[in-house]
Amino acid sequence: MSKKLTFQINHREQSMRSGTVTVNDRHIATPAIVQTGSALTTLTPVELRNCGVQAVKQDALDYWRLTDNFGDLHDLLAWPGVLVTAAGSEQAYRWAKPRGRKQDGVSFHDPASGQLLFYTPQDAINEQEHLGADITQGFVRDADYFAPVDDLNAAAEQNARWLAARPALAGDLAPVVGGGLLRVRRASLAAIPTTVTGYSIMGVTPDVPMSEQVRLVTEVVGMLDAPKLRYLPTPGDLHQLIAMMLAGIDLIDSDLAGREATMGNALVGTDRLHLDREKFADSDQPLAAGCGCPTCSAGISRAAIHHLLATAQPVGERYLLMHNLFTINRLVAQIRDMITAGQATAMLRKFAEPCDQ
Ligand SMILES: [Zn+2]
Repeated sequence: MSKKLTFQINHREQSMRSGTVTVNDRHIATPAIVQTGSALTTLTPVELRNCGVQAVKQDALDYWRLTDNFGDLHDLLAWPGVLVTAAGSEQAYRWAKPRGRKQDGVSFHDPASGQLLFYTPQDAINEQEHLGADITQGFVRDADYFAPVDDLNAAAEQNARWLAARPALAGDLAPVVGGGLLRVRRASLAAIPTTVTGYSIMGVTPDVPMSEQVRLVTEVVGMLDAPKLRYLPTPGDLHQLIAMMLAGIDLIDSDLAGREATMGNALVGTDRLHLDREKFADSDQPLAAGCGCPTCSAGISRAAIHHLLATAQPVGERYLLMHNLFTINRLVAQIRDMITAGQATAMLRKFAEPCDQ
């Protein structure tokens, strides 16, 4: 599949920028969330769109293991927006025994079938092409932020070998690894060809203190080729999302809306309501006053959701999921507008501070 990806930066404010990604006649206004996780298996494409979702992410490994010919996922899932894929190599690494981690791929027993599989970087490229991905990512050997220096070095060296063996592909993001070590991050970056579309900044996880995440991402962003896309996969909270956008990330791969919904939480402003608590049993208010999400616009009350959660009816979680998705995407849209107006820094600093939940 031939494709052409362009990233146009429209406005800049300090490290932040707002822009437009165009690929295969599909668009993302950045900064943006790339939606992953349970929202994609729970909601229809129309619901995702109504909640402001612009791009979704899937792991190629999940499809490759099943060996069926799925064809283009835009057709299969009826998804009209941008499709981002990752190789899923981190999962393969987790399943592999140490001797399965080879120079030319990863060998592991499939937990579903018990079959021994060998997943290679070429398999990952082929699968992502088959799936019709608009933005792709190659094999990554990631190392935990707190991993020993030797592991961080080994990850950077392995990624460099894979990048060298990988053809230049349009829409490709290259991994920047190295934990908190500037020297390893530099070595990782030096191995990335100038032809890549953008960078995936690995190893920025919620167990790293927020001040260190900000320091690290700011440092890495400062080393990158400025016109290229900056992508961050992370399971952080709303404060982290905002802090990372302040640090100049364009695309954040996140399942925050789904994780909060699973825990019975509704995001309201930058706070959260625990809807399973008894105090909501009699509340006829919507989740958030004036919210335009499908749940609040339909007049679903806090009491109704409390009741649905208490009786374990799945629609309760769906209502929360739609509200949370809408809330996050609307906040990110507001951030885009603030960047355009040159007012994002002052507005966002206070939201980026974590508060006690
Ligand atoms: Zn709502």
